[in-house]
Amino acid sequence: MNKPADLKLANVPVWINGKPLVPQARMGEVYNPATGQVAKRVPFCDAKIIDAAAKAAAAAYPAWRDTPPLRRARVMQKFLALMQAHQKDLARIVTEEHGKTLPDATGSIQRGIEVIEFACGIPHLLKGEFSEDVGSGVDCHSIRQPVGVCAGITPFNFPVMVPLWMFPVAIACGNTFVLKPSEKDPSASIRMAELFKEAGLPDGVFNVVHGDKEAVDAILAHPGISAVSFVGSTPIAKYIYETGARHGKRVQALGGAKNHAVVLPDADLEFTADALIGAGYGSAGERCMAISAVVAVGAAADPLVKLLGQKARAIKIGPGERDGMDMGPLVTGQHRDKVKRYVDAGVKEGASAVVDGRGLKIAGHEEGFFLGTTLFDHVKPEMSIYRDEIFGPVLVVLRVNTIEEAIALVNRNPYANGVAIFTESGGAARRFSNEVQIGMVGVNVPIPVPMAFYSFGGWKSSLFGDLHVHGVEGVKFYTRTKVVTTRWPHQDTPAPGFHMPTLG
Ligand code: NAD
Repeated sequence: MNKPADLKLANVPVWINGKPLVPQARMGEVYNPATGQVAKRVPFCDAKIIDAAAKAAAAAYPAWRDTPPLRRARVMQKFLALMQAHQKDLARIVTEEHGKTLPDATGSIQRGIEVIEFACGIPHLLKGEFSEDVGSGVDCHSIRQPVGVCAGITPFNFPVMVPLWMFPVAIACGNTFVLKPSEKDPSASIRMAELFKEAGLPDGVFNVVHGDKEAVDAILAHPGISAVSFVGSTPIAKYIYETGARHGKRVQALGGAKNHAVVLPDADLEFTADALIGAGYGSAGERCMAISAVVAVGAAADPLVKLLGQKARAIKIGPGERDGMDMGPLVTGQHRDKVKRYVDAGVKEGASAVVDGRGLKIAGHEEGFFLGTTLFDHVKPEMSIYRDEIFGPVLVVLRVNTIEEAIALVNRNPYANGVAIFTESGGAARRFSNEVQIGMVGVNVPIPVPMAFYSFGGWKSSLFGDLHVHGVEGVKFYTRTKVVTTRWPHQDTPAPGFHMPTLG
């Protein structure tokens, strides 16, 4: 479908033991969303190929684990420099396969590169604790050791940034890694593997495989893989968490989102509307931290909706590589059609469509997966456009009377990734931050994505597991703690006894 008959398509390879390879496998199609054409083919790996990647990672593990953290950090520093030097090429790959605008792709890669910067500090991050004299002549210290072969399974919406949340931290900690990026935009991961090798990473430490459920199930069942990091939609995150745990692995599985922005009547509405437009429609709404529900409190509602409507209509939509675009196409035709069906449902359920994005055509790109911006007002909590994660350029406005009602509404939602409040009142913002049951909170910041040296993650249905990604929690996830208690025999040491040892 949508494939010019005479075009010879490139195959995206897997990367195993430091080499690219196109295995015999089922093949999937990778689209250019701006043209709607199939641009590449990608192998969908079976259990045999996953086993080859896991074995390469297991073989590389002992030597990499025993490489001093400072030397591992030096490889990270070279990788960091190469990623910075190739940031623009990587952004072009992201735009070609995902569709987002080039400046947006570049920014997301920058946020990923910051995780490599964080991982360069690994000698410091792996330092343990030491207590002298926990008993008479007895000392105690803790150390953090890597867990072994780790795997990462990532979504389509950040093909560079989300893998970078995982593998630099895991590898800096002394683990080896198998990454399964989204089959919808798989090429950037292979480019990162090439750059990591150029930085001096030994073969087998970082491997990339591709595929769908078959590949993921083989990762989850593989006895040689000790830990799995996942980012994607909530139903799959739950499945990954349960299945991985059943196979004895440690799992962190980040899920979907429905992020609210609560706007109080005292907010600077012009500033707020600009922030919400960027957060709602940037990357065509395909961000896990996109604002998708605006909760307008009291008198904020009418003027805010008016401003949002004007600004949503003014958004420039076109191919991501074209200068001056605010928003590109959606990732696939299938996803575009799903988002469109939600807009149909919103109209049917009685919400008022202030801006209706259906029917947008981009001249010269009629086959591209474009959809205009939609803004709904007077949305009720029981409507599907509020209940479900749409993951497209659809912003819904709910109206409430008080901040109490707003907090209760946010806390009733099963998703709990990010949230923002817009207000000039420090007291209201403090109360909101304290009472809201959400993992990441912004005060006049619409997309509060924590920096690499903090940890990223949601609560409730937005995260299955205990630990968030990157920051100190990422280091905890990719290491196990060992506690060593030491005594050096000398003349005062009492003879070992049969009772429980206590502070002697
Ligand atoms: P997805 O859940 O469809 O896919 C994610 C990964 O799981 C992909 O690698 C895919 O190949 C694999 N997968 C898909 N179906 C599977 C199945 N049945 N069994 C096993 N594996 C399967 O997600 P997506 O559409 O690629 O990405 C969008 C979703 O990711 C949204 O829900 C978004 O909110 C979420 N997301 C969350 C965060 C976060 O930090 N919480 C960040 C980015 C994206």
